[in-house]
Amino acid sequence: MPELPEVETVRRGLLVTIGGRRILSAVLNRSDLRRPVPPFLAERLVGARIGALTRRGKYLLIALDGDGLLLVHFGMSGRVTAGGADLPALRHDHLILTFDEGTVLRFNDPRRFGVIDYLARGEEDRHPLLAGLGPEPLEPGFDGVALGAALAHRSSTIKAALLDQKVVAGLGNIYACEALYRARLSPRRRADSLAPRQTARLAEAIRTVLEEAICAGGSSLRDYVQINGELGYFQHQWAVYAREGKPCPGCDCKKGVRRIVQGGRSTFFCAKRQR
Ligand SMILES: [Zn+2]
Repeated sequence: MPELPEVETVRRGLLVTIGGRRILSAVLNRSDLRRPVPPFLAERLVGARIGALTRRGKYLLIALDGDGLLLVHFGMSGRVTAGGADLPALRHDHLILTFDEGTVLRFNDPRRFGVIDYLARGEEDRHPLLAGLGPEPLEPGFDGVALGAALAHRSSTIKAALLDQKVVAGLGNIYACEALYRARLSPRRRADSLAPRQTARLAEAIRTVLEEAICAGGSSLRDYVQINGELGYFQHQWAVYAREGKPCPGCDCKKGVRRIVQGGRSTFFCAKRQR
């Protein structure tokens, strides 16, 4: 499931592949994603030139000349592939854009939990999916004090709180696990039980795991695009995520990484290192 670093890597890949390009054709194959895609979308896209590409949490915002914005969320299984006219069509390609110099972009999402929407520029703060988002963890204002304020009076576990996009925008299951491991905090702690030095450590850990993943994505991006046109997914070595029973790095715990289920999601952690 794409989280902040994957979406950021897609954004950077799109800057290279479609930045400044004009859309020649837009084909919408399905409109029943998590939210209905507006029926006028294809009509608005044709002829538009790509402007700034930005990201908010796990949402991608593609500015179009005129005053439109294309909003994309990848849900559970969303992907973007980019290539020439020979880029193979796949089942579940819901939106296909062709650009003036021949690039074809396909938004593919088998499980259809993703979102494709159109909004007017300036409406971002009022859009129902964007309005309630918490702080951007890579922006300067995000620190232990801000995180501590967001966690105050929350009786859920810290793991559940980190998945709440109102607390911090962009984290999903992978980076919540990785950040808690790096911050040496148990995922079972109550969110409001963290001392100021612990929220500071956690804010720093969140930034670090996200920045490292973006770096890993950037360094593998060129190869990835050449191989199959897919943007945003990359090889990355997690410390704990999906590593149940394996040794955790630089730790002498005997049992290695443990997995528990919290709120229906797997949490991976080290019971010795994380308290
Ligand atoms: Zn360990």
